[in-house]
Amino acid sequence: MFNVETIRKDFPILSRKVNGKPLVYFDNAATSQTPQQVIDVIVDYYSNYNANIHRGVHTLSQEATDLYEASRQKIQAHFNAKYSHEIIFTSGTTHGINLVANGFSSLLKQGDEIIVSALEHHSNIVPWQMLCERTGAALKVIPMNEDGELVMSEFDKLLSENTKLVFVNHISNALGTINPIEYIIEKAHDVGAAVLIDGAQSAPHIKPDVQALDVDFYVTSAHKICGPTGVGMLYGKEEWLKKLPPYQGGGEMIAEVTFEKTTYADLPHKFEAGTPNICGGIAFGAAIDYTNAIGFDNIATYENELLEYGTKKLLEIEGLKIYGTSKHKTSVISFNLDGIHPYDVGTILDKLGIAVRTGHHCAQPIMDFYKIPGTVRASFAFYNTKSEIDALVEGVKKAKMMLS
Ligand code: PLP
Repeated sequence: MFNVETIRKDFPILSRKVNGKPLVYFDNAATSQTPQQVIDVIVDYYSNYNANIHRGVHTLSQEATDLYEASRQKIQAHFNAKYSHEIIFTSGTTHGINLVANGFSSLLKQGDEIIVSALEHHSNIVPWQMLCERTGAALKVIPMNEDGELVMSEFDKLLSENTKLVFVNHISNALGTINPIEYIIEKAHDVGAAVLIDGAQSAPHIKPDVQALDVDFYVTSAHKICGPTGVGMLYGKEEWLKKLPPYQGGGEMIAEVTFEKTTYADLPHKFEAGTPNICGGIAFGAAIDYTNAIGFDNIATYENELLEYGTKKLLEIEGLKIYGTSKHKTSVISFNLDGIHPYDVGTILDKLGIAVRTGHHCAQPIMDFYKIPGTVRASFAFYNTKSEIDALVEGVKKAKMMLS
Protein backbone atom coordinates (compact mmCIF):
# COMPACT_ATOMS: atom_id res chain seq x y z
CA MET A 1 0.00 0.00 0.00
CA PHE A 2 1.25 3.48 -0.93
CA ASN A 3 1.39 5.60 2.19
CA VAL A 4 3.11 8.94 1.76
CA GLU A 5 3.58 9.53 5.50
CA THR A 6 5.44 6.21 5.84
CA ILE A 7 7.51 6.97 2.75
CA ARG A 8 8.48 10.41 4.06
CA LYS A 9 10.08 8.78 7.12
CA ASP A 10 12.65 7.22 4.74
CA PHE A 11 13.98 10.68 3.81
CA PRO A 12 15.87 12.29 6.72
CA ILE A 13 16.24 15.62 4.89
CA LEU A 14 12.46 16.09 4.78
CA SER A 15 12.36 16.69 8.51
CA ARG A 16 14.85 19.56 8.49
CA LYS A 17 13.96 23.22 8.69
CA VAL A 18 14.98 25.98 6.31
CA ASN A 19 14.82 29.57 7.51
CA GLY A 20 12.95 28.32 10.57
CA LYS A 21 10.20 26.68 8.49
CA PRO A 22 9.69 23.01 7.64
CA LEU A 23 11.43 22.27 4.34
CA VAL A 24 9.09 21.94 1.37
CA TYR A 25 11.23 20.43 -1.36
CA PHE A 26 9.85 21.09 -4.84
CA ASP A 27 13.10 21.05 -6.82
CA ASN A 28 12.90 17.35 -7.65
CA ALA A 29 13.42 17.82 -11.39
CA ALA A 30 16.87 19.23 -10.59
CA THR A 31 17.76 16.52 -8.11
CA SER A 32 15.68 14.15 -6.01
CA GLN A 33 16.19 13.43 -2.33
CA THR A 34 17.93 10.32 -1.00
CA PRO A 35 16.22 7.75 1.23
CA GLN A 36 17.95 6.26 4.27
CA GLN A 37 18.12 2.89 2.47
CA VAL A 38 20.44 4.42 -0.16
CA ILE A 39 22.39 6.50 2.38
CA ASP A 40 23.00 3.25 4.34
CA VAL A 41 24.48 1.60 1.24
CA ILE A 42 26.87 4.54 0.79
CA VAL A 43 27.95 4.44 4.45
CA ASP A 44 28.32 0.65 4.28
CA TYR A 45 30.56 0.91 1.21
CA TYR A 46 33.01 3.35 2.82
CA SER A 47 32.82 1.60 6.21
CA ASN A 48 33.30 -1.97 5.03
CA TYR A 49 34.55 -2.64 1.50
CA ASN A 50 35.97 0.51 -0.07
CA ALA A 51 38.45 -0.78 -2.68
CA ASN A 52 39.24 -0.46 -6.35
CA ILE A 53 37.36 -2.90 -8.56
CA HIS A 54 38.11 -5.43 -11.29
CA ARG A 55 41.85 -5.67 -10.73
CA GLY A 56 42.34 -6.78 -7.14
CA VAL A 57 42.64 -10.35 -5.90
CA HIS A 58 42.01 -9.32 -2.32
CA THR A 59 38.65 -9.76 -0.59
CA LEU A 60 37.64 -6.10 -0.42
CA SER A 61 38.25 -5.60 -4.13
CA GLN A 62 36.27 -8.71 -4.97
CA GLU A 63 33.36 -7.69 -2.75
CA ALA A 64 33.27 -4.20 -4.28
CA THR A 65 33.51 -5.68 -7.81
CA ASP A 66 30.68 -8.14 -7.15
CA LEU A 67 28.37 -5.41 -5.83
CA TYR A 68 29.25 -3.00 -8.64
CA GLU A 69 28.53 -5.63 -11.29
CA ALA A 70 25.37 -6.75 -9.46
CA SER A 71 24.21 -3.14 -9.65
CA ARG A 72 24.80 -3.12 -13.40
CA GLN A 73 22.54 -6.17 -13.61
CA LYS A 74 19.85 -4.46 -11.55
CA ILE A 75 19.95 -1.52 -13.94
CA GLN A 76 19.83 -3.91 -16.89
CA ALA A 77 16.74 -5.61 -15.45
CA HIS A 78 15.07 -2.30 -14.60
CA PHE A 79 15.41 -0.89 -18.12
CA ASN A 80 15.00 -4.36 -19.67
CA ALA A 81 18.23 -4.29 -21.66
CA LYS A 82 19.06 -7.56 -23.39
CA TYR A 83 22.63 -7.76 -22.00
CA SER A 84 24.26 -6.26 -18.92
CA HIS A 85 27.21 -5.15 -21.09
CA GLU A 86 24.81 -2.79 -22.87
CA ILE A 87 24.72 -0.75 -19.64
CA ILE A 88 27.64 1.66 -19.40
CA PHE A 89 28.20 3.46 -16.11
CA THR A 90 28.69 7.19 -16.69
CA SER A 91 28.92 10.25 -14.49
CA GLY A 92 25.39 11.19 -15.58
CA THR A 93 23.16 12.06 -18.52
CA THR A 94 25.51 14.75 -19.82
CA HIS A 95 28.43 12.31 -19.90
CA GLY A 96 26.32 9.66 -21.69
CA ILE A 97 25.25 12.12 -24.41
CA ASN A 98 28.81 13.36 -24.93
CA LEU A 99 30.06 9.78 -25.16
CA VAL A 100 27.64 9.03 -28.00
CA ALA A 101 28.24 12.41 -29.73
CA ASN A 102 31.97 11.79 -29.65
CA GLY A 103 31.50 8.30 -31.07
CA PHE A 104 29.53 9.60 -34.03
CA SER A 105 32.31 12.04 -35.01
CA SER A 106 33.87 9.37 -37.19
CA LEU A 107 30.52 8.16 -38.59
CA LEU A 108 29.05 11.44 -39.91
CA LYS A 109 29.99 13.56 -42.91
CA GLN A 110 29.01 16.80 -44.63
CA GLY A 111 25.41 16.64 -45.83
CA ASP A 112 24.25 14.35 -43.01
CA GLU A 113 21.50 15.69 -40.79
CA ILE A 114 20.71 15.26 -37.13
CA ILE A 115 17.43 16.19 -35.46
CA VAL A 116 16.86 17.49 -31.94
CA SER A 117 13.73 19.02 -30.47
CA ALA A 118 12.80 22.51 -29.30
CA LEU A 119 12.17 21.07 -25.84
CA GLU A 120 15.72 19.96 -25.07
CA HIS A 121 17.92 20.61 -22.06
CA HIS A 122 21.22 22.29 -23.07
CA SER A 123 22.90 18.90 -22.44
CA ASN A 124 21.01 17.54 -25.43
CA ILE A 125 21.74 20.53 -27.68
CA VAL A 126 25.33 21.63 -27.19
CA PRO A 127 27.09 18.24 -27.72
CA TRP A 128 25.25 17.88 -31.04
CA GLN A 129 26.18 21.41 -32.12
CA MET A 130 29.80 20.51 -31.34
CA LEU A 131 29.38 17.29 -33.34
CA CYS A 132 28.05 19.31 -36.30
CA GLU A 133 31.06 21.63 -36.10
CA ARG A 134 33.43 18.64 -36.17
CA THR A 135 31.71 16.79 -39.02
CA GLY A 136 29.90 19.37 -41.17
CA ALA A 137 26.54 17.70 -40.43
CA ALA A 138 23.49 19.99 -40.08
CA LEU A 139 21.26 20.32 -37.00
CA LYS A 140 17.47 20.43 -37.53
CA VAL A 141 14.94 21.21 -34.80
CA ILE A 142 11.43 19.79 -34.24
CA PRO A 143 9.39 22.88 -33.31
CA MET A 144 7.05 23.19 -30.32
CA ASN A 145 3.58 24.70 -29.89
CA GLU A 146 2.07 26.99 -27.20
CA ASP A 147 1.11 24.00 -25.05
CA GLY A 148 4.76 22.95 -24.94
CA GLU A 149 4.28 19.94 -27.21
CA LEU A 150 6.38 18.90 -30.17
CA VAL A 151 4.75 19.45 -33.57
CA MET A 152 4.89 15.96 -34.99
CA SER A 153 3.77 16.92 -38.50
CA GLU A 154 6.90 19.10 -38.71
CA PHE A 155 9.03 16.21 -37.50
CA ASP A 156 7.69 14.08 -40.36
CA LYS A 157 8.78 16.79 -42.81
CA LEU A 158 12.29 17.03 -41.35
CA LEU A 159 12.97 13.32 -41.83
CA SER A 160 14.81 12.26 -44.98
CA GLU A 161 17.43 9.81 -46.15
CA ASN A 162 20.01 12.36 -44.91
CA THR A 163 18.79 11.99 -41.32
CA LYS A 164 21.36 9.96 -39.41
CA LEU A 165 20.46 10.63 -35.79
CA VAL A 166 17.46 11.84 -33.78
CA PHE A 167 17.77 13.05 -30.17
CA VAL A 168 14.86 13.96 -27.95
CA ASN A 169 14.18 13.92 -24.28
CA HIS A 170 11.52 11.57 -23.00
CA ILE A 171 10.19 14.30 -20.71
CA SER A 172 10.97 18.02 -20.82
CA ASN A 173 12.65 19.22 -17.62
CA ALA A 174 11.37 22.77 -18.04
CA LEU A 175 7.69 21.99 -18.74
CA GLY A 176 7.12 18.32 -17.86
CA THR A 177 5.78 17.42 -21.33
CA ILE A 178 5.97 13.69 -22.10
CA ASN A 179 7.13 13.40 -25.69
CA PRO A 180 5.74 10.75 -28.07
CA ILE A 181 9.01 8.83 -28.20
CA GLU A 182 7.45 5.60 -29.57
CA TYR A 183 6.35 7.51 -32.71
CA ILE A 184 9.67 9.35 -32.97
CA ILE A 185 11.70 6.12 -32.72
CA GLU A 186 9.56 4.32 -35.29
CA LYS A 187 9.65 7.16 -37.84
CA ALA A 188 13.38 7.74 -37.38
CA HIS A 189 14.06 4.05 -37.91
CA ASP A 190 11.97 4.12 -41.10
CA VAL A 191 14.62 6.40 -42.65
CA GLY A 192 17.51 4.44 -41.10
CA ALA A 193 18.40 6.98 -38.38
CA ALA A 194 19.56 6.03 -34.88
CA VAL A 195 17.71 7.46 -31.87
CA LEU A 196 19.00 8.63 -28.50
CA ILE A 197 16.45 9.31 -25.78
CA ASP A 198 17.47 11.58 -22.91
CA GLY A 199 15.73 9.94 -19.97
CA ALA A 200 17.00 12.27 -17.23
CA GLN A 201 13.46 13.35 -16.39
CA SER A 202 11.60 10.14 -17.18
CA ALA A 203 13.57 7.68 -15.06
CA PRO A 204 12.00 8.95 -11.79
CA HIS A 205 8.43 8.70 -13.10
CA ILE A 206 8.30 5.98 -15.75
CA LYS A 207 9.92 2.56 -16.08
CA PRO A 208 11.11 2.46 -19.68
CA ASP A 209 11.55 -0.82 -21.53
CA VAL A 210 14.40 -0.19 -23.94
CA GLN A 211 13.78 -3.39 -25.91
CA ALA A 212 10.06 -2.70 -26.39
CA LEU A 213 10.91 0.89 -27.37
CA ASP A 214 13.57 -0.47 -29.75
CA VAL A 215 15.61 2.62 -28.87
CA ASP A 216 19.30 2.74 -29.84
CA PHE A 217 20.57 4.77 -26.88
CA TYR A 218 18.94 5.78 -23.60
CA VAL A 219 20.68 7.92 -20.97
CA THR A 220 19.84 8.95 -17.43
CA SER A 221 21.30 10.14 -14.10
CA ALA A 222 20.98 8.39 -10.73
CA HIS A 223 20.44 11.62 -8.81
CA LYS A 224 17.06 12.14 -10.45
CA ILE A 225 15.84 8.79 -9.13
CA CYS A 226 16.79 8.90 -5.44
CA GLY A 227 20.43 7.95 -6.07
CA PRO A 228 23.64 9.93 -5.58
CA THR A 229 25.08 12.62 -7.88
CA GLY A 230 27.99 11.91 -10.21
CA VAL A 231 26.73 8.61 -11.57
CA GLY A 232 24.36 7.58 -14.35
CA MET A 233 24.00 5.15 -17.17
CA LEU A 234 24.09 4.92 -20.92
CA TYR A 235 22.14 2.08 -22.49
CA GLY A 236 23.24 1.33 -26.04
CA LYS A 237 22.27 -1.53 -28.31
CA GLU A 238 25.20 -3.92 -28.49
CA GLU A 239 25.63 -3.41 -32.23
CA TRP A 240 25.96 0.36 -31.76
CA LEU A 241 28.30 0.16 -28.80
CA LYS A 242 30.54 -2.18 -30.77
CA LYS A 243 30.58 0.25 -33.69
CA LEU A 244 31.37 3.41 -31.67
CA PRO A 245 34.99 4.13 -30.75
CA PRO A 246 35.89 4.60 -27.05
CA TYR A 247 35.30 8.05 -25.59
CA GLN A 248 38.26 8.23 -23.22
CA GLY A 249 41.50 6.28 -23.07
CA GLY A 250 43.11 4.97 -19.89
CA GLY A 251 43.12 2.08 -17.48
CA GLU A 252 40.25 -0.45 -17.40
CA MET A 253 39.23 0.11 -21.03
CA ILE A 254 42.11 -1.79 -22.64
CA ALA A 255 42.78 -5.41 -23.57
CA GLU A 256 46.52 -4.97 -24.22
CA VAL A 257 48.83 -1.97 -24.36
CA THR A 258 52.17 -1.67 -26.14
CA PHE A 259 53.77 1.47 -27.53
CA GLU A 260 53.10 0.12 -31.02
CA LYS A 261 49.39 -0.73 -30.63
CA THR A 262 46.68 -0.85 -28.00
CA THR A 263 43.61 -3.05 -28.21
CA TYR A 264 40.40 -2.22 -26.38
CA ALA A 265 38.52 -4.22 -23.78
CA ASP A 266 35.15 -5.77 -24.54
CA LEU A 267 31.91 -4.05 -23.59
CA PRO A 268 31.12 -2.48 -21.19
CA HIS A 269 34.72 -1.74 -20.11
CA LYS A 270 35.66 -0.19 -23.47
CA PHE A 271 33.66 2.87 -22.40
CA GLU A 272 34.65 2.90 -18.72
CA ALA A 273 38.18 4.30 -18.59
CA GLY A 274 39.72 4.94 -15.18
CA THR A 275 38.43 4.24 -11.69
CA PRO A 276 34.67 4.73 -11.80
CA ASN A 277 32.32 6.09 -9.13
CA ILE A 278 32.18 2.67 -7.48
CA CYS A 279 30.13 3.64 -4.46
CA GLY A 280 27.82 5.71 -6.67
CA GLY A 281 27.27 2.79 -9.03
CA ILE A 282 26.35 0.50 -6.15
CA ALA A 283 24.08 3.14 -4.61
CA PHE A 284 22.41 3.66 -8.03
CA GLY A 285 21.34 -0.01 -7.86
CA ALA A 286 20.02 0.52 -4.31
CA ALA A 287 18.00 3.54 -5.53
CA ILE A 288 16.47 1.41 -8.27
CA ASP A 289 15.55 -1.23 -5.68
CA TYR A 290 13.98 1.46 -3.50
CA THR A 291 11.82 3.03 -6.23
CA ASN A 292 10.77 -0.37 -7.56
CA ALA A 293 9.65 -1.38 -4.07
CA ILE A 294 7.36 1.68 -4.03
CA GLY A 295 6.22 0.78 -7.54
CA PHE A 296 6.19 2.95 -10.65
CA ASP A 297 2.42 2.61 -11.10
CA ASN A 298 1.90 3.88 -7.55
CA ILE A 299 4.36 6.71 -8.18
CA ALA A 300 2.60 7.77 -11.41
CA THR A 301 -0.89 7.67 -9.88
CA TYR A 302 0.11 9.65 -6.81
CA GLU A 303 2.20 12.23 -8.67
CA ASN A 304 -0.68 12.81 -11.11
CA GLU A 305 -2.92 13.57 -8.16
CA LEU A 306 -0.37 16.11 -6.93
CA LEU A 307 -0.09 17.61 -10.42
CA GLU A 308 -3.87 18.02 -10.79
CA TYR A 309 -4.23 19.46 -7.30
CA GLY A 310 -1.29 21.87 -7.68
CA THR A 311 -2.40 23.04 -11.13
CA LYS A 312 -5.93 23.76 -9.93
CA LYS A 313 -4.80 25.59 -6.78
CA LEU A 314 -2.14 27.69 -8.48
CA LEU A 315 -4.47 28.70 -11.31
CA GLU A 316 -6.83 30.18 -8.71
CA ILE A 317 -4.21 32.93 -8.19
CA GLU A 318 -5.00 35.84 -10.46
CA GLY A 319 -2.20 36.78 -12.84
CA LEU A 320 -0.50 33.37 -12.61
CA LYS A 321 0.29 31.69 -15.91
CA ILE A 322 1.41 28.10 -16.32
CA TYR A 323 3.76 27.21 -19.19
CA GLY A 324 3.45 23.67 -20.52
CA THR A 325 -0.23 22.76 -20.65
CA SER A 326 -0.04 19.44 -22.49
CA LYS A 327 -2.35 16.68 -21.25
CA HIS A 328 0.68 14.41 -21.43
CA LYS A 329 2.90 15.69 -18.68
CA THR A 330 4.53 14.71 -15.40
CA SER A 331 4.43 16.51 -12.09
CA VAL A 332 6.18 19.72 -13.13
CA ILE A 333 4.49 23.11 -12.91
CA SER A 334 6.39 25.95 -14.56
CA PHE A 335 4.75 29.32 -13.94
CA ASN A 336 5.11 33.08 -13.67
CA LEU A 337 3.24 35.85 -11.91
CA ASP A 338 2.30 38.67 -14.22
CA GLY A 339 5.00 41.39 -14.23
CA ILE A 340 7.13 39.74 -11.53
CA HIS A 341 10.56 38.21 -12.12
CA PRO A 342 10.70 34.46 -11.28
CA TYR A 343 13.90 34.98 -9.29
CA ASP A 344 12.11 37.32 -6.89
CA VAL A 345 9.30 34.81 -6.35
CA GLY A 346 11.84 32.03 -5.72
CA THR A 347 13.72 34.16 -3.18
CA ILE A 348 10.57 34.84 -1.16
CA LEU A 349 9.56 31.19 -1.30
CA ASP A 350 12.99 30.22 0.04
CA LYS A 351 12.48 32.50 3.03
CA LEU A 352 9.38 30.39 3.70
CA GLY A 353 11.36 27.14 3.50
CA ILE A 354 10.05 26.27 0.02
CA ALA A 355 12.64 25.12 -2.52
CA VAL A 356 11.71 25.73 -6.15
CA ARG A 357 13.88 26.34 -9.19
CA THR A 358 13.86 29.67 -11.00
CA GLY A 359 15.43 30.66 -14.30
CA HIS A 360 15.71 29.07 -17.73
CA HIS A 361 16.22 25.53 -16.40
CA CYS A 362 19.05 24.93 -18.93
CA ALA A 363 16.43 25.18 -21.67
CA GLN A 364 16.86 28.70 -23.04
CA PRO A 365 15.19 27.96 -26.42
CA ILE A 366 11.94 27.18 -24.56
CA MET A 367 12.11 30.50 -22.69
CA ASP A 368 12.85 32.29 -25.99
CA PHE A 369 9.78 30.63 -27.52
CA TYR A 370 7.58 32.06 -24.77
CA LYS A 371 9.58 35.35 -24.79
CA ILE A 372 10.25 35.20 -21.05
CA PRO A 373 13.51 35.24 -19.05
CA GLY A 374 12.55 32.14 -17.10
CA THR A 375 9.91 30.57 -14.90
CA VAL A 376 9.35 29.41 -11.35
CA ARG A 377 9.36 25.61 -11.51
CA ALA A 378 7.77 23.45 -8.83
CA SER A 379 8.43 19.76 -9.49
CA PHE A 380 6.77 17.15 -7.29
CA ALA A 381 8.02 13.73 -6.23
CA PHE A 382 6.17 10.81 -4.66
CA TYR A 383 7.22 11.96 -1.16
CA ASN A 384 5.52 15.36 -1.51
CA THR A 385 2.07 16.10 -0.12
CA LYS A 386 -0.99 18.21 -0.84
CA SER A 387 -0.39 20.20 2.33
CA GLU A 388 3.05 21.13 0.99
CA ILE A 389 1.32 22.34 -2.18
CA ASP A 390 -0.99 24.42 0.01
CA ALA A 391 2.12 25.99 1.57
CA LEU A 392 3.44 26.76 -1.92
CA VAL A 393 0.17 28.38 -2.95
CA GLU A 394 0.14 30.56 0.19
CA GLY A 395 3.80 31.45 -0.45
CA VAL A 396 3.09 32.49 -4.03
CA LYS A 397 0.17 34.63 -2.86
CA LYS A 398 2.45 36.29 -0.32
CA ALA A 399 5.13 36.87 -2.97
CA LYS A 400 2.52 38.45 -5.24
CA MET A 401 1.37 40.75 -2.46
CA MET A 402 4.92 41.83 -1.59
CA LEU A 403 6.15 42.27 -5.15
CA SER A 404 3.15 43.82 -6.95
N1 PLP B 1 18.64 16.26 -19.72
C1 PLP B 1 17.58 16.63 -19.00
C2 PLP B 1 16.22 16.54 -19.61
C3 PLP B 1 17.74 17.08 -17.69
O1 PLP B 1 16.67 17.45 -16.98
C4 PLP B 1 19.04 17.14 -17.13
C5 PLP B 1 19.25 17.67 -15.77
O2 PLP B 1 18.46 18.41 -15.25
C6 PLP B 1 20.12 16.72 -17.92
C7 PLP B 1 19.88 16.29 -19.20
C8 PLP B 1 21.52 16.73 -17.40
O3 PLP B 1 21.64 15.80 -16.36
P1 PLP B 1 23.01 15.72 -15.53
O4 PLP B 1 23.30 17.12 -15.07
O5 PLP B 1 22.70 14.79 -14.41
O6 PLP B 1 24.06 15.21 -16.46
